[in-house]
Amino acid sequence: MPDFKHLIYEKPEDGIARIWLNRPDARNAQDTELLYELNDAFDVAMGDDEVKVVILAAKGPHFSAGHDLAEKGMRQVEADNKRVTSWEGGEWDGAEAYYMREKEIYEGFCVRWRDLAKPTIASVHGKSIAGGLMLIWPLDFVIASEDASFQDNTMYMGIPGIEYFAHVWELGIRKAKEFLLTGQPITAVEAEKAGMVNKVVPREELEEATLAFARTIADKPSFALKLGKDAINASFGATGFDAIQRGAFNAHHLAHTHYRLSANGSFMDPDFGTRFRKK
Ligand code: ZN
Repeated sequence: MPDFKHLIYEKPEDGIARIWLNRPDARNAQDTELLYELNDAFDVAMGDDEVKVVILAAKGPHFSAGHDLAEKGMRQVEADNKRVTSWEGGEWDGAEAYYMREKEIYEGFCVRWRDLAKPTIASVHGKSIAGGLMLIWPLDFVIASEDASFQDNTMYMGIPGIEYFAHVWELGIRKAKEFLLTGQPITAVEAEKAGMVNKVVPREELEEATLAFARTIADKPSFALKLGKDAINASFGATGFDAIQRGAFNAHHLAHTHYRLSANGSFMDPDFGTRFRKK
């Protein structure tokens, strides 16, 4: 069992593994280390024959504030990290640098986690903002508490959506446009109505309700669960997700590069902070 710095890994019941995001002071903001740890934790669960279903939950007031924009060394992925794509390399320059980083640690992880063999459940409370959605959408089920809210605020950054472009599949076209272009949060109940969330429960019942849901999966044969999940994911792929994802990821990076080439030199609109706080 790896020694996790930002996660807690446990097996609360037969057949069930539970991973807690455990960086509450940073509102579970995702730095590179947390993402690789999470990938390792999923691998532990996938490789454990006693585990049939995996829960991802969060400690602290919010599920995840998104990618850790304060992280130092944004261009570095440590040499000992286990790569999930073959994009990320040692040579860094120009638009390629940021593109390769995000291809690996954002798109790469999301696509990999979506296709993990065993079913996965996101157990969500508080806020999930931008990259926070990328720990939810690739998973198979979402159980949310009544206080949960979801937001893609990248439009405030001058960026056309997070790196995993599943908005339309998660919310339907009309709601997806509202969600993406206004950048406003939606409630758990709105998300459930749009089909993004399976179940909404009171905050104090979230942990038990998620376990109860997990039990209805863990009592089935693991091979059948894997085959059923894979068939549904194949249906998802057949709707053209991968082609849309590639196009949207490239557009996302056109925006990053736009700001890199500007006087600002950052990867987003320099007015993001004031604009987002002012709302
Ligand atoms: Zn990005």
